[in-house]
Amino acid sequence: MDYRKNDLVTVTIEDMGTEGEGIGKVDGFTLFIKDAVIGDTVEARILKSKKHYAYARLEKVITPSPFRAEPKCPYHRQCGGCQIQALSYQKQLEFKESKVRNNLIRIGGFDETFIDSVMEPIVGMDNPYNYRNKAQYPVGTDKNGNIVTGFYAGRTHSIIANTNCYLGVPQNEEILKCILSYMERNKVTAYNEENGQGLVRHILIRTGFTSGEIMVCLVINKKTAKLSYQASGIQKQNNEFLPAQGELLRDLASIKGMTSVSVSINTEKTNVIMGKEIHCLWGSPTIQDTIHVRDMQKEGYPFTGQELTFKISPLSFYQVNPVQTEKLYSLALEYAGLTGQETVWDLYCGIGTISLFLAAKAKQVYGVEIVPQAIEDAKENAVRNGIENAEFFVGKAEEVLPQKYRDEGIYADVIVVDPPRKGCDEACLGTMLQMKPERIVYVSCDSATLARDLKVLCDGGYEVKRVRAVDQFPMSVHTETVCLLGNRKPDVRVKISVETEELKKKEK
Ligand code: SAH
Repeated sequence: MDYRKNDLVTVTIEDMGTEGEGIGKVDGFTLFIKDAVIGDTVEARILKSKKHYAYARLEKVITPSPFRAEPKCPYHRQCGGCQIQALSYQKQLEFKESKVRNNLIRIGGFDETFIDSVMEPIVGMDNPYNYRNKAQYPVGTDKNGNIVTGFYAGRTHSIIANTNCYLGVPQNEEILKCILSYMERNKVTAYNEENGQGLVRHILIRTGFTSGEIMVCLVINKKTAKLSYQASGIQKQNNEFLPAQGELLRDLASIKGMTSVSVSINTEKTNVIMGKEIHCLWGSPTIQDTIHVRDMQKEGYPFTGQELTFKISPLSFYQVNPVQTEKLYSLALEYAGLTGQETVWDLYCGIGTISLFLAAKAKQVYGVEIVPQAIEDAKENAVRNGIENAEFFVGKAEEVLPQKYRDEGIYADVIVVDPPRKGCDEACLGTMLQMKPERIVYVSCDSATLARDLKVLCDGGYEVKRVRAVDQFPMSVHTETVCLLGNRKPDVRVKISVETEELKKKEK
């Protein structure tokens, strides 16, 4: 069968692709249809046709799937944020679990029955909306010259004007309207990506779910005179970065919970949202939040009394779903299996959240992170929580770890890693293998790179003991996964820290 562009086809959706698109077959010909839900029978129009497959646009749902759910957001199809809002939450969880499973089998090369024996059921949320504590809204100008903010349409940079995102907290809307109204009144321009003109590029809003504290950071396209830099990158002073700045600050300050207002300078033509230079204009340069860690083994995740408070800077990473973060961290801690005697390395540690929970149960923890502001936050977070057995280093994990291993012969009983989507660098994995910790806990936000890295670690002498997905991002196709690896030959471990000197002598 040959399909051409604009042909109409009727097809039943039998599967879902990694981006949440529906997959159906007609006469052995495969169709990929965005927004079609598994179990639907749909009419679709062919957009692009290849020899054995085609991409098609959903025109009409003929028989809706029993797995359909009523989406809350009228923009869910256009917006790039929620790919699977029309799918029931239960089915979303099944989809994510099988995505992790498939990646481990296909990319990791693990045996199916083995994976089924180590995988535990995905951890979902009771209320999968309004979960995000952080939102970044692009600012632009619409066809009529009005200033708008909202979300990028999927795979594009055109802004869908919408101040009410159901993934975020309801107060975001009030804050956005306040900023848009100030911009209109004072003729403040929005940034234009095409020509690099205009002032306001993005609005970052972060809310501490426990503390109720709100941080607003406006990313602006404005060069500043060279200022003496604090190591934190945060300046507190009264320069005018925005026209009628006092008016904006007065309006924002009147919003309940407002704690911190800052600007981030970004004059580069880039997709990177935040500029590295931050100036605090009002209130505190940071907000704080508290995380409680629960015991995953007890039903209902009862609170076990471990509770830490964290300071968060605009440039630091902080988990976006606080409800699920507690479960994710609980699981990572459980997998780490600490008794109080262990030396632990926490790579990609951010503001030291996981590190400090580990420290409460370990002898000594070392954290490594690339963003200097995050390490400053981590050090302060250790002090504010009265933790003395945690030390932090700024740098790339793949540079700091090998260098410390080579020069100081560092040692680890347990290594925890929580890298960004691209996963761990080979040099980092190589050093981990040389360090031969008893256990490795891998926290991953992309199961494809997780699977790739697990293959390397398992080829190097480790075995996967437990795997569990935690849904940090309901309505999107993404999920977090935690994996416990054990050393297959713990007997050949060398206590490097003790024997460093001798080893060095031998090498010479
Ligand atoms: N474990 C932390 C942070 C996880 S996000 C938490 O749960 O909050 C991943 C972190 O890795 C980010 O803070 C990012 O800045 C940092 N990072 C990215 N590349 C890195 C690298 N090559 N070396 C060290 N840290 C890196």
